[in-house]
Amino acid sequence: MSEFDYDLFVIGAGSGGVRAARMAATYGAKVAIAEEYRVGGTCVIRGCVPKKLMGYASKFAHDFKDSAGFGWSVGETSFDWKTLIARKDAEIDRLNGLYMQNLERHNVEIIHSRAELEAPHRVRLIGEDRHVTAKHILIATGGRPNFAQNLPGAEHMITSNEVFHLEDKPERVVVVGGGYIALEFAGIFNGLGVDTTVLYRGEEILRGFDDDVRATLHEEMEKQGVKVICEDVIEKIDKDDDGLTVHTAKGSVLKADQVLSAIGRSPYTEGLGLERLGVEMDKAGAIKVDEHNRTNVDHVYAVGDVTNRVNLTPVAIREGAALVETLFNDNPTVIDYKDIPTAVFTQPEIGTVGLTQTEAEAAYDNLDIYMAKFRPMKNTLAGNDEKMLMKLIIDADSDKVLGCHILGPVSGEMSQLLGIAVKMGATKADFDATMAVHPTAAEELVTMKEPTTKIRKQG
Ligand code: FAD
Ligand code: NDP
Repeated sequence: MSEFDYDLFVIGAGSGGVRAARMAATYGAKVAIAEEYRVGGTCVIRGCVPKKLMGYASKFAHDFKDSAGFGWSVGETSFDWKTLIARKDAEIDRLNGLYMQNLERHNVEIIHSRAELEAPHRVRLIGEDRHVTAKHILIATGGRPNFAQNLPGAEHMITSNEVFHLEDKPERVVVVGGGYIALEFAGIFNGLGVDTTVLYRGEEILRGFDDDVRATLHEEMEKQGVKVICEDVIEKIDKDDDGLTVHTAKGSVLKADQVLSAIGRSPYTEGLGLERLGVEMDKAGAIKVDEHNRTNVDHVYAVGDVTNRVNLTPVAIREGAALVETLFNDNPTVIDYKDIPTAVFTQPEIGTVGLTQTEAEAAYDNLDIYMAKFRPMKNTLAGNDEKMLMKLIIDADSDKVLGCHILGPVSGEMSQLLGIAVKMGATKADFDATMAVHPTAAEELVTMKEPTTKIRKQG
């Protein structure tokens, strides 16, 4: 009999923790998982899934409008916020139930409690006032929204944790931040008829993405009615009978019913007992791990957002799976973080894989850039002026496709498939040799013949 209660104890039942727990149990390990909120974690309960459902809801507004050009008269439309929230909540409850069933079916013990590290191999279950021991401990506690709590009026702001549970649809929203969450919610609110303003501190929204995609997204969001204010920051928020008033450093005064703060997320390591065990963290509080997800303390591992590597659900899942392969299947597995495709569910949507032009220019001497900006077919009859953007970045010396960037309908879906080609090391010649699918927007990717820009470094 083992000297420990469990072979693996997982703290946090989100994307990474659930995958690791279930797989380890499949390999015969005795596993328990502790969750302080709801099984499923950020992605299922208050992230990717409810966000995407709300995105679908908001997109009907564009479809109703576009349909007139095709002969439809939809008549007067109305939207009921409470219905959307209730139906979204029911779906999240269903998924939460499925996650729990799935864990139980694999004999993973679910413990509904906060867990903290107490000593090597020992975890304290706060809600149950007891401790358990485990041979291996996996920390998969994810991240939490950052919050400017010292800002005057900060108490009037909400974060992505609260935005899914608003009782009523706000009429006016100010979204603070210019990253994934800010821009996705700006699109959702705007589509649902909310007067929406984005307030971003930098020069252009969505830092880290390709510059042409950023500029075009900015343009298209404004065409749809979102107000985007760059190079300004919030200074204070007042509340009176007419709701909230946001004052910015440059003197703008914005009225709002809700102010959504989306200024990034930080690893959730506070109070976990890491200092007690000497587990090393970086300045941002992220747990430091090696390529095998090992911390500096024997038998303590970490995966997912708490390690602040690439904070996406599929990455957390892969990290959890890789750890279990290594520990319980005698199959040391290391993840390749290169060319991770990603989608941003803005309106219009972004799908991207590989290097941006700026990154490619820093790393390569000679580049061919192919870019097309056009009105997708559906928008012609719709009378909709929204443009689609496709961009390929090619290493002119090897012909390798270094980056693909798309802005427009279903580009998230496209990025998954392009991800395969880029991961396989496809060249521009491979793209050219691929027959087009007609009539699609994606055919542009295999029919762009002449570079729009050639970059050649001298010498
Ligand atoms: P999490 O899923 O955050 O799970 C951690 C779990 O640990 C939580 O359930 C938490 O309650 C629990 N926990 C924490 N501390 C303790 C403790 N001490 N004891 C017990 N339990 C604890 N990613 C995408 O790929 N695509 C998207 O479209 C996308 N959209 C997003 C939208 C939003 C609004 C947000 C916030 C995130 C989104 N993400 C998206 C990111 C994605 O949700 C995360 O990368 C992913 O959930 C990370 O998984 P994880 O296992 O590391 O942590
Ligand atoms: P991001 O890092 O994407 O964006 C944070 C934004 O807040 C940036 O625009 C940043 O500006 C700004 N910001 C940071 N600090 C401040 C500050 N003190 N004052 C004002 N503005 C500030 O974080 P999000 O919170 O949007 O999302 C967190 C992560 O979740 C994402 O990075 C992503 O990994 C994941 N996610 C993925 C999604 C997807 O896959 N579709 C969807 C949602 C989230 P600056 O650029 O100048 O630093």
